[in-house]
Amino acid sequence: MGAPEAFTTTHDVGHWIGGQRVAGTSGRSQAVWNPATGAVARQVALASAAEVNAAVAAAQAAFPAWADMPPIRRARVMLKFLELMNQHRDTLAAMITAEHGKVFTDAQGEVTRGIDIVEFACGIPQLLKGDFTDQVSTGIDNWTLRQPLGVVAGITPFNFPCMVPCWMFPVAIACGNTFVLKPSERDPSPSVFMGELFKQAGLPDGVFNVVQGDKLAVDTLLGHPDVKALSFVGSTPIAQYIYETGAHHGKRVQALGGAKNHMVVMPDADVDQAVDALIGSAYGSAGERCMAISVAVLVGDAADKLMPKLAERAKTLKVKNGMELDAEMGPIVTRQALERIEGYIDIGIKEGAKLVVDGRGLKVPGHDKGFFTGGTLFDRVTPAMRIYQEEIFGPVLACVRAKDFAEAVKLVNEHPYGNGVSCFTSDGNIAREFSRRIQVGMVGINVPIPVPMAWHGFGGWKKSLFGDMHAYGEEGVRFYTKQKSVMQRWPASIGKGAEFAMPVSR
Ligand code: NAD
Repeated sequence: MGAPEAFTTTHDVGHWIGGQRVAGTSGRSQAVWNPATGAVARQVALASAAEVNAAVAAAQAAFPAWADMPPIRRARVMLKFLELMNQHRDTLAAMITAEHGKVFTDAQGEVTRGIDIVEFACGIPQLLKGDFTDQVSTGIDNWTLRQPLGVVAGITPFNFPCMVPCWMFPVAIACGNTFVLKPSERDPSPSVFMGELFKQAGLPDGVFNVVQGDKLAVDTLLGHPDVKALSFVGSTPIAQYIYETGAHHGKRVQALGGAKNHMVVMPDADVDQAVDALIGSAYGSAGERCMAISVAVLVGDAADKLMPKLAERAKTLKVKNGMELDAEMGPIVTRQALERIEGYIDIGIKEGAKLVVDGRGLKVPGHDKGFFTGGTLFDRVTPAMRIYQEEIFGPVLACVRAKDFAEAVKLVNEHPYGNGVSCFTSDGNIAREFSRRIQVGMVGINVPIPVPMAWHGFGGWKKSLFGDMHAYGEEGVRFYTKQKSVMQRWPASIGKGAEFAMPVSR
């Protein structure tokens, strides 16, 4: 692959409302940084309540015609959008690397996983097919169908500015809803670009809208009577707030929160495979993935076998500007996040964990002002430590030693988060027991980052998800539609006289 073209525009990022770019008018904006250079690249508008209301009004106006359009015709727009997303995959990936910092090939993977959901949504006619029962009673038929909700909103985190919005809007829109997306203010460009692609695909104006903003925009969506459902992905405290506030306003809410994902390595696991898996999943995307592995639970003598190899690999990670194609890890998204991560390393040392590799203060040649830190590795972490309990969301791997399988399972099950988990073993019975007993929503057996494919649905347990339905897949279709049951008979089968007893099948 040749060198990808960097995303360097200096234009401010505004909103996408009613099928066009709209500059911010609130007078409020925020810097968007290039984390690799540490320079401000552009500004993003922060919406006022009036701007959010305008986006909801555009979506509300577009809803009746879009909901009425036959699903196969909605699917044809989605198919065209799929083609355009594939065509512009690298443009999107370069935007992500420029604003988030992750390495370009990882950004390409993110876009591809987002595109998978668009592809899934192209099958909407099949997914919306209802159930029909002939003759529930003599001369009476009963069927169920699913109808769209209206205007639905999505609020998304910085770490997947393309993929996570794609968990939501393709399914919501294919179901016949109209959508208002409030992306992260840290990396706002991909969402507006996807709005432009959708317009080129023939999506009617107002069906997909983007408002840039912060808490004010989110709170306006939460309280807006025309917003019928909210999908949120982000940190746990905000997820809980969105869930409670949305429910208070009578909305349907799914709110996916933070994580602390464990990988259990059994003594019978292949050592090199386990080391590769831990290095890639702990330090890939600089640990800024909700499915990153941040805790290794090393069972029995696995610790002694793995630790020297983990240390060697963590020390020699290629940490660079993500646009360099041999980079394994890019910078952290903001200076503030970098300081939080390095602050946790200080805490881990004070708590008595053994610092095996220290990534703090890493300097990348030619990028003195970039927000870089190296990979950090701790051994002998215990469950009472904050670096074990709390989400660090950076390239810090905490290794905990467990005496046996039962102790490892107990550790995972007692942790407040339950997003993803993995077990490396060559024993089929251990694998089976692990996947049955573990109290976590997404489980990998010899798979470190088990992000379910588009048709399976994504969601954690415990403090990693508030609400009862997972994102995308058939759960997504259920979330974005309401079920209606219709019972019908015709005059020829109606008997005479009023019926006062509860009707039963005759
Ligand atoms: P965040 O919670 O800070 O922000 C998420 C969204 O909420 C953003 O759009 C932001 O503007 C908005 N927001 C922030 N503070 C708010 C407030 N006080 N009131 C209302 N809205 C607010 O999360 P982040 O830092 O952007 O993303 C990282 C977090 O997201 C991590 O905790 C990570 O685990 C989590 N995450 C979870 C999943 C998952 O599927 N469970 C996926 C990706 C990321």
